[in-house]
Amino acid sequence: MKVIVVGGVAGGASAAARLRRLDESVEIVMFERGEFISFANCGLPYHVGNVISERSSLLVLTPEMLKDRTNIDVRTRQEVTAIDREKKVVSVRNLDSGASYEESYDKVILATGSTPVRPPLPGIDDPDVFQLWTIPDMDRIRGRVDQGATRAVVVGAGFIGLEVAENLRERGLTVDMVELMPQVLPTLDVEMSQPLAEELMHEGINLRLGRKVVSIHRHGDEAVPDKPGKVIHVELDNGDEIEADMVVLSIGVRANSELAGQAGLPLSERKGIVVDEHMCTEDPDIYAVGDAVSVTDLVTGEPAQIPLAGPANKQGRIAADNICGRDSAYKGTLGTAIVKVFGMTAGSAGHTERRLQAAGQSFQKIYLHPASHASYYPGASPLAIKLLFDETGKILGVQAVGRDGVDKRIDVIATAIRSGLSVYDLEELELAYAPPYGSAKDPVNFAGMIAANVLRGDSDIVHVDNVPENALLLDIREFAEVELGLLDGAVHIPLGQLRDRLGELPKDKLIVPYCKLGLRGYLAERILKGAGIQSANLCGGVLTWKQFFPDPVVATPAASTLETTPVLHASPTASTTDVTRRVDVTALQCPGPVVRVRHEIEEMAPGEVLQITATRAFRSDLEAWCGSTGNALLSLQEQEKTFEALVQKGVASQAASGGLPAVSSGQPESAAIVLFSGDLDKAMAAFIIATGMAALGTKVSIFFTFWGLNVLRKDRPPSVTKDILSRMFGFMMPCGARKLALSKMHMMGMGTGMMKYVMGKKNVATLPELIQQARELGITFIACDMAMDVMGMQREELLDSVDDVAGVAKFAALAKDSGTTLFI
Ligand code: FAD
Repeated sequence: MKVIVVGGVAGGASAAARLRRLDESVEIVMFERGEFISFANCGLPYHVGNVISERSSLLVLTPEMLKDRTNIDVRTRQEVTAIDREKKVVSVRNLDSGASYEESYDKVILATGSTPVRPPLPGIDDPDVFQLWTIPDMDRIRGRVDQGATRAVVVGAGFIGLEVAENLRERGLTVDMVELMPQVLPTLDVEMSQPLAEELMHEGINLRLGRKVVSIHRHGDEAVPDKPGKVIHVELDNGDEIEADMVVLSIGVRANSELAGQAGLPLSERKGIVVDEHMCTEDPDIYAVGDAVSVTDLVTGEPAQIPLAGPANKQGRIAADNICGRDSAYKGTLGTAIVKVFGMTAGSAGHTERRLQAAGQSFQKIYLHPASHASYYPGASPLAIKLLFDETGKILGVQAVGRDGVDKRIDVIATAIRSGLSVYDLEELELAYAPPYGSAKDPVNFAGMIAANVLRGDSDIVHVDNVPENALLLDIREFAEVELGLLDGAVHIPLGQLRDRLGELPKDKLIVPYCKLGLRGYLAERILKGAGIQSANLCGGVLTWKQFFPDPVVATPAASTLETTPVLHASPTASTTDVTRRVDVTALQCPGPVVRVRHEIEEMAPGEVLQITATRAFRSDLEAWCGSTGNALLSLQEQEKTFEALVQKGVASQAASGGLPAVSSGQPESAAIVLFSGDLDKAMAAFIIATGMAALGTKVSIFFTFWGLNVLRKDRPPSVTKDILSRMFGFMMPCGARKLALSKMHMMGMGTGMMKYVMGKKNVATLPELIQQARELGITFIACDMAMDVMGMQREELLDSVDDVAGVAKFAALAKDSGTTLFI
C-alpha cells in the first residue's frame, strides 16, 4: 500500500509516524511545501521572546531524522497542487526547481492545516508587517527585533496575538495591541477576560479594544520600508495613529481546504473538509485531519472549525489507524485551550455564554473564586471560574483565569464534559489532594456544589449583570473589608451581626447579600431565608462584580520598566531598614489578609512601617485599603506569586503636621461632643477638636443630632421608603459631608468653594478626610434616634461607620463619664 501524506507538521507527521508503527511494509511519501517538517509551531512565540533560547529545540524532527527512524520519504519544498481521484494520482510542484510531476497513491491523508488571515488593508504588504505561523515567520520577526525595533503593534488579541505581545514585551519593546472585540481573548466571555486585560496593562501592553486597523502606511521619505528605523503608521478606525517599527497580524486563520475542494470533496459552510468519525472524506481513499477539517462540536453536535494542535495530532493517529484496518473514531472537539498571559493563565473548554446565547440555548451559570490550593499553605492564589450548565446539570462550558492551578481545573472539567458527567458528578469527583496542590474540596468540587445547590433550589443566586430592580445589596463583609468600599447602593451588616440585626432590613425587597468571593454571601442567604426573608446570593461576590465593572487601569508606560524592579510610589525616605513590624498573610483566607493588616496597623504608632508579604491577588485590595484609610503604600515589589509591600501608618494624613505628638498624660480620658450644626465650618471645627483629642489619647464620642446628622448622610443614599414630609426634608437637606455649606459667606456656593480651595492649598484635610481620620483614631459616632425620627432619616442613609443609633440616655451616660463635653 502507498500512502501520500500532504502536510508535514502536526497532523501529517503524527499520521505518518503512526502508519509506520502500525505497518512496516506501507510506502509513505510525505509532501511539505515548507522547508521544515514536524516543528513546534506552538513554541514559536517563545523563541521570539528568548524564553526558548535554542531555535533548534523547535525543530522536533528533520526530514533526515524522519527518514532514518521511520523510512518515510519526506519531500520538503514540494507542494501538492491537485488530486486526480479517477487516476489516483496527485500532482506535485517542486517549489525550488519549478518542475511538476505526478505521484500515484492508494490512500491520501490531507493534513494541510490553515493559513493566517491577511485582510486586504492598504499597506498590508509592507515588509515590516509580519505574521507568526512558520519557522521563517519567526526568524523574520526575531530579525526585525534584533535590528533594533522598539515599538510593535500586535493586531488581534487571540491566543497567538497574546503570546506574541508578551514575548515582544519580554524583549523590551513598547507594544500596542489592537483588537476588534471589546475584550482580549474572545474565546472567553468578556468579564472572564477582564483579569487578563488588567494583567496586560499592568505589564505595559497598551490595549486598544473595540478598535479596527484601517490602514498601515509610511509618510513621505519614510516610504522606504527596507531601511530599519523608518516609522510605520498604523491608523485605527477612530482616527488614532500608532507609530511603530513593526506590526504583527494575528487575526485568525482559515482552513487550507482548496486542494480538497478542487478534487470535488465536500466542504462545510466554513470551508472545512467534511470527514466522518474515522477522519475519512466522502472518498474512501482520502482522509483529512487537523485544522483543515470540519469537526463535530461536542457540546452542540454541530459542525465547527477548531484549529488546535491536540485535535490535529489525535486525528492524524486515528486516520492512520483506519487506513491500517483499525476501527478508531474521533468523536468531536470541545475546544479545550489554555494560554499564558504574563503571570496569569486563562483556560476554557466547551461553550461561552456568548455562544450559548447566540445559539438560543438555555443555560445557567455560576462564578466562583476558590483558592488554587489550601489557603493556609503559602502561595495560594484565587482562581476565577465560570461554569455553564443546563437545567439537567449537563456541563456546557467552563472558563478559568488565575495565577496557579488553572490547567488542572480546566482539564478535569473538560474530561467531565467529554465523558458526559454532570455538575452533580463534579461534586463527588475524588481528586488528588495535599495542601500544596489543592483542597479537600477542590475548586472543581466547589463548582459542582454551587451549581448543584442552584439546581436543587438550595441557593438562589443573582448575577452582577442582572441584579433585579427591587433588590437591596447587603454587604456582609468585615469592617476592614468595607473600608475598600461598598457596592453602589449597598448597606452594610457584618455577617456576625446579621442574626441580631434582621429587623433593620426592609421587608418589601429582595435582599442580596454579598461578600468578597460569594461563600459568606451564601451563608448570609441561608440565615436570611431561615428568618423568612426573601434573599438571593450575589454569585461570585465583589470579585465577580469587579470583573464586570473593573477599576480603571493604565498601561505602565516605559518599556524600560521591564529592566527595573516594579516599585510603586517609591518613597525616598523609607526602606526595609525602617520596618517596625512584619506580617505574612500569604496563608490567610479571605477576609484574613485585610483584617490582619488592619489589626497590625491599629497596634502601630503613626509613622511606623509595616512590611507585608501577601499573595499577588491581595495587591489591589491593599492598594485600595491604603488609599481609603490614609495609610501610605510606600513600595510594592512583586515576585512570581507573592509581593512584599511597605505600608506606613497614617503618613498621608499626618504629613502636613510632621507627625502626631505622643499621647500626653494631662489629657482627659474621655470626651463627648454634641454636633448640632450642619454647617461646614462648625462640623470641621468639631472634627478637628475631636481628632486632636483622640490623637492625644482621649476616647472621644460624637453625638450627632438635628442638622449635625447631615454630616453622616451618605453621598448617594440607597432608596428607602418614606412618607412625603420625610422625603421633602431629605430633599432640602445637604446630602453628606461633601455638600455642607459655610455658615457665613456661602454666597450661593462661591464662598464655600473658595474656602475649600484655600484649605486644599494649605494642606488642611477636607471634612470627609477628617471623618475618615476620626474613624481611624477610634472616635465613636452616635446618631440621635429622636432627631432621625423627626427628620425622617433612616439608618441606611447614614454612613456605615456610624457605631450606634441611640437616644439621650446614651449621651447622658457618655457625658457623665467624660472629662469634657462640647456642644457645637
Ligand atoms: P499544520 O501544523 O499547520 O501543518 C500543515 C502543513 O501543511 C503546513 O506546514 C503547510 O505548509 C503544509 N501544506 C499545506 N498545503 C500543502 C500542500 N498543498 N502541499 C504540501 N504541503 C502543504 N495549538 C494549540 O493547541 N496550542 C497552542 O499553544 C498553539 N500555539 C500555536 C502557536 C502558533 C504560533 C501557531 C502558528 C499555532 C499554534 N497552535 C496551537 C495551533 C496548532 O499549531 C495547529 O492547530 C496545528 O499545528 C494544526 O495542525 P495541522 O497538521 O492541521 O496543520
